[in-house]
Parts: sequence; C-alpha cells; structure tokens
Amino acid sequence: MTKPHPLLRALPSVEKLLAASALQPILARYNRTYITDLIRQMLETLRRDILSGAHTAPLAEPDLVERITTRLRSEDRSPLRSVINATGTVLHTNLGRALLAQAAVDEMVRAASTPVTLEYEVSRAGRGDRDDLVEADLTALTGAEAATVVNNNAAAVLLALNTLAEGREGVVSRGELIEIGGSFRIPEVMRKSGVVLREVGTTNRTHPRDYADAISDRTGVLLKVHTSNYRVVGFTAEVGLEELVALGKEHGIPVMEDLGAGALIDLAQYGLPKEPVVAERVAKGADVVTFSGDKLLGGPQAGLIVGRKAWVDQIKKNPLKRALRLDKLTLAALSATLRLYRRSPRLPHDLPTLRWLTRPLNDMAALAAQAVPLIRQALGSAFSLSVEEATAQIGSGALPEEEIPSTVIAVRHSELSAEKIAQRFRQAEPPILGRIHNDTFLLDLRGIFDPQDLVP
Ligand SMILES: *Cc1c(COP(=O)(O)O)cnc(C)c1O
Repeated sequence: MTKPHPLLRALPSVEKLLAASALQPILARYNRTYITDLIRQMLETLRRDILSGAHTAPLAEPDLVERITTRLRSEDRSPLRSVINATGTVLHTNLGRALLAQAAVDEMVRAASTPVTLEYEVSRAGRGDRDDLVEADLTALTGAEAATVVNNNAAAVLLALNTLAEGREGVVSRGELIEIGGSFRIPEVMRKSGVVLREVGTTNRTHPRDYADAISDRTGVLLKVHTSNYRVVGFTAEVGLEELVALGKEHGIPVMEDLGAGALIDLAQYGLPKEPVVAERVAKGADVVTFSGDKLLGGPQAGLIVGRKAWVDQIKKNPLKRALRLDKLTLAALSATLRLYRRSPRLPHDLPTLRWLTRPLNDMAALAAQAVPLIRQALGSAFSLSVEEATAQIGSGALPEEEIPSTVIAVRHSELSAEKIAQRFRQAEPPILGRIHNDTFLLDLRGIFDPQDLVP
C-alpha cells in the first residue's frame, strides 16, 4: 500500500472547515448547503492539484478560508452583468436591445412588488383580460381595430400564421424568405406554425401575377415580410402591400405583414432614415401586422399583433396564445412605454432608444472632450487617442444600409493589436465594449452619457 501524500493528509475535512471559527461570519451570510458545496469543490480541486504536482505548498486553515472568501466574491456577481455599450449598435440584440424608459422601469417594479389588476376589473369585481392593459393604446397608435401581445415577434408571427392558415398554404415572395439572427427563419417558422410555404417569384423580382398564379382553394394567407436586415438592390421588383391587399380582397384571403422593427412613429421627423410605420401599413389594408416591442419601439421584449378585429379575436382564442402570452412585468413595461408614446410632450427625451438615435453630434463631441483626458490618464502615454467621425447603426435588423453619423474615440498602441486593446477594455468593471474597424479599436459615443463610463 502506498502511503497517502502528506499534503493530502493535511487537508481538513469539510466538517472541520465548516466548524472553523473564521468561517462562522461567512455562514451567517450564506446558506450552509451552498458553502458546503463550495468547500467540497475547493477540496476536490486541491486534491487533484496535489496529486498532479500542480500544488506543492502546505495549506493552513486560514489559507483555505481565504480561498473560500475569494471564490465567494467572484460568485457574488450576478451572471447577468451590466456592460458599457460603446459598440455603436444602439439596439444590440446580444446586449438586450432597447433600454426601458424610467416610467417603464417604475411600472415593472410596482407590478413586481404589489398585487395588480393583471386580469381583474375592479368595477365589476370580476375577471378581466390582460390584453386590455395595452389594446386601447395600441389601436390608438396604429389605427388598427384590435391588438394583442405575445412573448416576442417570432411568437407573434408563429401565432398569427397558425391562426390564419394552419393546414393551408402561405404565399411568400422568394425575396422575403428572411433569416434574422440565425434562429428566426421564415420557412422554418412557417412549417412550425402548420402552414405550407408556397414561395413565388425570384430572389430579386416578384410580380403581382406570381401571387395571383399561386392562389388556389388551398391558400390561407398572403404573407409579406419586411426584409429587415438586408436589401435587394439593382434589377428588382417587389409587390407593394396595396397590391397584395387588393389581391387578397379579390380572393377572400387575409394579408399579413411581418414588419420586424416596426416604428410607431415616423423617424424621419427626427432626421433619421425612414423605417416602415405600423399605422401606415395598417392604413394600407394589411389584415394583421406583427412587430417587436424591443426594437425601434424601445419597450420590453414583446411581439405586437395589430389588425382587423375578426382576425385578432381568433388569434386571442388560439390555445397557443396561452403558451406565448406576456407576464405582468413585461405588460407593465409595455403599457408604460405605449402611454409615453401617446402622452409624452418630449418622447426623444423620455425614451432611451430615441434619445440615443437623435443625439446631436456636438453633444458627443463635448463628451469626447471630457472622456479623452480621463482615458489617457488611465491608460498611460503608450496609448494614443483620437476623436474621429464614424457611423453607428440602429441594430436589430432595422435599417441595415442606413447608418447614423456618430463620434468615436479611436484607441491605438504601437505594439498592441486592436483585439488586445479591446480585451483590456473588456476587463474593466463594468466591461467596456467597443468595436474594431479597420484594425482599430473604437469607442462609439452615441450611447455614452457619462465620460467616467469609458475609463478602463
Ligand atoms: C427581428 C425580427 C423578427 C424577430 O423578432 P423578435 O422580437 O426578435 O422575436 C421577425 N421578423 C422580422 C422581420 C424581424 O426583423
């Protein structure tokens, strides 16, 4: 029998460590099972390291308690970390898209911490409908007869297609069979909704007769999809919504449009490129329009469905609706956001997404002047900083070609690559995320309001 390693023998048991007086303050702050698991894992790692020769020093009890404390500190941080978005992508899907207005945050906190009338009508002391919380504002803002809401726009498309055309054909132009962010693909969502895809036209050109030729007694819906994240340019032809609506009317087939970002107001009034406005699509006669809550709208993640009452009523009755419905926190935030749209006299001030998008260049220049000396001081003289013009993007597939002018601080170093510099900024707390363009690390200022945020 080989003699056990002396360092192994010196390791205390889990029980002994739990009883150590230095551990008692920790046990007063954390639950015992959690700390026990942590100690067990730590001892296991140490045993492995001792046997492999990776660990050679003797360990006294205070060393072990210190290891536990260090580990606890790193685990205290929420896995959902706050970051500084200096990427220049305003609606960054991986960073949670839109930031909520303060009014929406307040409403979420209230709905989380007090009982609320989620499905309750106080006057009748009876059951209410959670859609009522947002339907009046949504119909007022879009001109639609009715509205309902679900978990996200992908869910909205799935639910609407399933309701309108399950077991039948959905006619779509080949130029609109889009993929968004890898997992949302029109052909796949269609299949899952039980609708048979009937593609018409070609990638670059689709004509009214292509739709007309495809219509039969199997047709359940004419679907139009906003090509959010790309543009077909050059020799192109697309069938407008009005023409599709006319065709639908003629044959008694509903017309649905997936707008994606879907703006509630015309962004052109703020000098921004024009993205389709929901009310305009409704006015053109679409029976059902779907769009996201957390893209241009600037609210929480949600899928909004507006359109003709007869169709929206059926959508609400679909058993899938229950599986896709919104929770009270999201409804609270969405309702507060929609109320801002209707009531705020200064929407670009109140809604962070619009505040970012409409931010004047001189405001960013002023911020750059404050931030550069602070960053220089933190990085030292080996780095060079310069303020440059650049273009930011709206993101989330909205307006892919249109970029909005922005201001960046370019950070360079004679020996460090842009990736190494980016890494240095990511190590800040909170991590500062910029972007790399032409081998240069850039901090885009469009979404930065406090110069201190950029100090690594
Ligand atoms: C973004 C987008 C979707 C998916 O919306 P989510 O809210 O992310 O689920 C669907 N269709 C289009 C056209 C989009 O742009």
